[in-house]
Amino acid sequence: MKGVVYLGDSEVEVREIPKPEPGPNEVVIEMKVGGLCGSDLHKYHSSRAWALEREGMISGHEPTGVVSELGKDVSNLSVGDRVCVYHSVGCGHCNVCLSGTPVFCENEGAFGRTRNGCHADYMLSEARYCLPLPDSLSFSVGAQLACTAGTAFSATNKIPSRAGDTFVVFGLGPVGLTVLLFGEAMGYKTIGVDVHPFRMKNAERVAGGTILNGRDVDPVGAILDLTGGKGAEGVVECSGNEIARAQAAAAARLHGTVVYVGAGAEHLKIDFLDILRKALTLKGNSVYSMGDYFKAVAFLEKHDIPLDDMVTHRFKIDQAVEAFRTFDSGETGKVIFDWEN
Ligand SMILES: [Zn+2]
Ligand SMILES: [Zn+2]
Repeated sequence: MKGVVYLGDSEVEVREIPKPEPGPNEVVIEMKVGGLCGSDLHKYHSSRAWALEREGMISGHEPTGVVSELGKDVSNLSVGDRVCVYHSVGCGHCNVCLSGTPVFCENEGAFGRTRNGCHADYMLSEARYCLPLPDSLSFSVGAQLACTAGTAFSATNKIPSRAGDTFVVFGLGPVGLTVLLFGEAMGYKTIGVDVHPFRMKNAERVAGGTILNGRDVDPVGAILDLTGGKGAEGVVECSGNEIARAQAAAAARLHGTVVYVGAGAEHLKIDFLDILRKALTLKGNSVYSMGDYFKAVAFLEKHDIPLDDMVTHRFKIDQAVEAFRTFDSGETGKVIFDWEN
């Protein structure tokens, strides 16, 4: 089979690799869609030494496909099942793993970072990371749920406000834009903020509501104007930019909630009076729990959310060099490897 391997210094290579075989409690999945994620670019930009340490590890952590082979003792899956594979892995036995958040396990790892991922014709996974993907959702939506859309759903649900409230998203990359779409579907008045021209245009294409260019206008002033001077009930910060983090708290209204999602800048520097005088609630969100996956699927089945429209580029696995280069340009929405279309 073919698989994509990081070489370091912004290079990948497509290699001929033996097809995996399932051990006990493992399955082999025939890939249908594997997404490229912003965090794959960090690995893509890593050094040659980083890539060498991983000895030809296959990239990718946004897998969807069909179960093609079952290992011994797998009882909850059948050949032919459509699945989305949860992207991070843990020991499988501790409190946080059993709570559905292996990402916080002491022995945390991830597909495409510490073990072979999904940018290959087939991938190997423990059965316990395979989440059922209903026929009603496309494989490209499933790939987004594996990482970006799952994270976006979890972050959006941390805002305890109601339909009709104003909901602001800073940073309209794949996670931020998906937060905006979920917010819209939940009935909020949405405002998105970015500074990158492609992302702004992409957001205007996919989402409704108001899209602000944080370079042309002071976003806090504009949000206050749009909310009669009160600010937004809910703000989700997805850019990881230090200035945007402060603006997120400044744009929130009395008793508002701000959820921080974007990594990036090391510190959070916000005006303390913003928190004190407005009695704000600040929350962090790192990925999502496996339990949230089922809620996200149920929500997507009931609401018409244009997640398929987020995909701007589809590549075959043979085109991996071009796929990574295109994604690295910053001029894309969601980029996927697609085995079907
Ligand atoms: Zn990801
Ligand atoms: Zn664990």
